[in-house]
Amino acid sequence: FFIAFEGGDGAGKSTQVRAVAEWIRAKGHEVVVTREPGATAIGKRLRAILLDVSSAGLSDRAEALLYAADRAEHVDSVVRPALERGAIVITDRYIDSSVAYQGAGRDLSPTEIARISRWATDGLVPHLTVLLDVSPETARERFTEAPDRLESEPAEFHQRVRTGFLTLAAADPARYLVVDAGQEPEAITKVVRHRLDQLLPL
Ligand code: C5P
Repeated sequence: FFIAFEGGDGAGKSTQVRAVAEWIRAKGHEVVVTREPGATAIGKRLRAILLDVSSAGLSDRAEALLYAADRAEHVDSVVRPALERGAIVITDRYIDSSVAYQGAGRDLSPTEIARISRWATDGLVPHLTVLLDVSPETARERFTEAPDRLESEPAEFHQRVRTGFLTLAAADPARYLVVDAGQEPEAITKVVRHRLDQLLPL
């Protein structure tokens, strides 16, 4: 079973991924927690290039292809092997992040970005995608560390990203759980647990 957490910067994805993984593990299942970009050795190098403020001149299409390369490596060496041995895989970001950031955010065609990711992953789609939806204003208040390259983007960029995510979720409601990420973390985890209880009695 493959679960993706998606959402803008500061939505609280990593906190939720951790909490949900712990909950599933406590029920005796193997859970592999992973993330994009940067879950593999090559991915870490790609992440460094992608998030370095000195990559400011990186072209939009090159950026999209580097994210796709990171994803291809991630699926091939981490996600598929784990799924094949029966583990539950939870990833912090997946294809939708590319569609929202490189597509809606950067003004490339979301359809084309989705197609590149489909090729990169050989068509691996999550069984459930949890979208943690939060306004860019609320998200910004949560930043504690120095902003990376993306977090320094203007508010309009993050607004387009948010709309990009919501558009994906609206097109396939059965495969998405959209949660108001302005709530307390415990309340969010509860909503996710409820959906997982319906989907895969653990
Ligand atoms: O989720 P995490 O903080 O690890 O993501 C790192 C950065 O990469 C974030 O600033 C996020 O906005 C950006 N990103 C992106 N396009 C993606 C995935 C992440 O711009 N496809």
